[in-house]
Amino acid sequence: MIRLVVVGAAGRMGRAVVETVAGDAGFEVVAGVDREPSPAGWNPAVPWFAEVEEGVSPGSVVVEFSGSAGAVAAARACAGAGVPLVSGSTGLGDVEEAALRAAAERVAVLRAANFSLGVLALRRAVRAAVGALPGWDVEIVERHHRGKKDSPSGTALRLAADVAAAHGVSAPSLRHGREGNVGPRPVDEIGLHAVRGGTWVGDHTVLLAGSGEWLELRHVAQDRTAFARGALAAAGFVARARAGLYALDAVEP
Ligand code: NAD
Repeated sequence: MIRLVVVGAAGRMGRAVVETVAGDAGFEVVAGVDREPSPAGWNPAVPWFAEVEEGVSPGSVVVEFSGSAGAVAAARACAGAGVPLVSGSTGLGDVEEAALRAAAERVAVLRAANFSLGVLALRRAVRAAVGALPGWDVEIVERHHRGKKDSPSGTALRLAADVAAAHGVSAPSLRHGREGNVGPRPVDEIGLHAVRGGTWVGDHTVLLAGSGEWLELRHVAQDRTAFARGALAAAGFVARARAGLYALDAVEP
């Protein structure tokens, strides 16, 4: 039985993790952490904390979906307590990335911008398609709910990095939308387009456009349990892993 501390437990993803654990005998939520009060339906027997360092206990695994500040707090608390961390927050800056890397020197840290196993398969399919279609233009369109804070999505950036790697380029030339007289499309450009509205959970389309034909690879997350299931698989992995920084490929090679 893996004992989970859920950071961001009042948020959309935190609640999805808690709901998914309810149907899985291999996991137990031992604490919720959030600056907001516990949501309706929270089990009153499970303690609730405002700060992550109060909730972390030896023998637990932290699963964090709480944004930049929560990711840093979770990284520091996990490193201090010797507790593994699964971190799902996106839109992190250099300071937050450095905090996660520092924690990974002490404990196992698994980070993913998208915990869906379907997106993992999409990434592999994109790399294969781009490798097979040299010279084709690549554009990425992502759609998310109106409450999403970071744009483009971490997954879109990850897909762009995959495309660039398949092209043999380390620093991709990203074009975030187009406006005005931008001229013809440079061949090495990767277009990124962020659509926001409604309650879209997560939708990523990679368009590959050749001469007289095009190919579209698309993944749609219909609800957040797709991410929550992947995060639980990751929690099972870090519970047994040595210190280090891991990606989702480590769980589903
Ligand atoms: P949300 O705003 O619904 O929830 C975030 C929660 O974190 C809130 O309840 C907030 O009060 C809490 N929080 C913020 N700072 C905190 C802190 N310092 N300590 C404790 N709690 C804190 O957001 P969401 O839709 O659940 O997404 C959360 C993050 O996860 C975002 O970065 C989002 O992009 C990312 N996300 C990742 C995946 C993935 O598969 N990796 C999937 C969906 C969302």
